[in-house]
Amino acid sequence: MEKSHTPSLAIVVPCYNEEDMLKSTFETLSCCLNDMITAHQISSNSKIYYVDDGSQDTTWQIIQARSQTDSQVVGLKLSCNKGHQNALLAGLQHTSEDITVSIDADLQDNPNNISLMVNEYLKGNEIVYGVRSKRDSDTFFKKFTAESYYKIMQKMGVDLVFNHADFRLMSRVALNALSEYGETNLFLRGLAREVGFKYSTVEYERTERVAGESKYPLRKMLSFAWEGISSFSTAPLRAITVLGFAAGAISLAMILWVLGTRLFTEGVVPGWASILVPLLFIGSVQLMCLGVIGEYLAKIYAEVKQRPKYHIEQKTQTKKNDKP
Ligand code: UDP
Ligand code: MG
Repeated sequence: MEKSHTPSLAIVVPCYNEEDMLKSTFETLSCCLNDMITAHQISSNSKIYYVDDGSQDTTWQIIQARSQTDSQVVGLKLSCNKGHQNALLAGLQHTSEDITVSIDADLQDNPNNISLMVNEYLKGNEIVYGVRSKRDSDTFFKKFTAESYYKIMQKMGVDLVFNHADFRLMSRVALNALSEYGETNLFLRGLAREVGFKYSTVEYERTERVAGESKYPLRKMLSFAWEGISSFSTAPLRAITVLGFAAGAISLAMILWVLGTRLFTEGVVPGWASILVPLLFIGSVQLMCLGVIGEYLAKIYAEVKQRPKYHIEQKTQTKKNDKP
């Protein structure tokens, strides 16, 4: 359904040790917001939320100072470093505007696309994903690992938008749905797909970081990658079961070979067969058992999450005086 009103927009920016970057981010985003207001694309009560994720530098002081002089800026400070995803969620949950756009403080994701995203929203989409069309600014390693990751996730049955990170527009409806997810292990780009609703994408070229350095070193990147897999897929547990059965089949063949050699050939070292047979047998049985336990663990894991099972997008009601 196309939207006819002029929506209010909230831009949410998580910031962790971004003092080198913030001044230019303030200027660019404010400029971007005001251009959209002037064009009557969004209403004049739109805001930018900067979330300080427990920075150790002067990030918070800079945000605070800006929010005192700029009525469009809201500053939020987290008690300590909770990580990008939590900072983002905190920001999103503090907005009251009709639509929110999340963007990184380094503006590697071109903010001019926000306007295109709002257009997509006005066309009736509840979520608009920013998708990187090229990754030329990334190192070969980052590009290769990131793209392989999306492919592996897709193979494991995790529904992700390829090459989408956290540059995303969400409407109030989608955000309300997202807030019903109570999980501690946050992987927002996966949850946004889980929420459903009509969506579209906007492509852009990711540029290099202008100032400061990446807050995602390899260690954090790997841990985030695993967070995504373990929060959305139980395929690794199923893999143990399959491995157990495969090991079982191989062991059975080997047991037969060991017994054959023991019974029908001369000169077998005493103790060889009696050690090898139970070793192979117990090894494969253990792996199979682990796999089966894993299967049940996967069920418990799904239950413990208590994810909402559906969201109502629309409701049609027959009026009382309607004839059946
Ligand atoms: N960030 C955060 N908390 C953290 C790490 C990062 O809020 O613990 C923010 C950071 O300030 C930036 C965004 O998350 O706005 C993305 O980080 P970065 O640009 O360093 O990641 P990369 O683009 O290198 O993947
Ligand atoms: Mg970045």
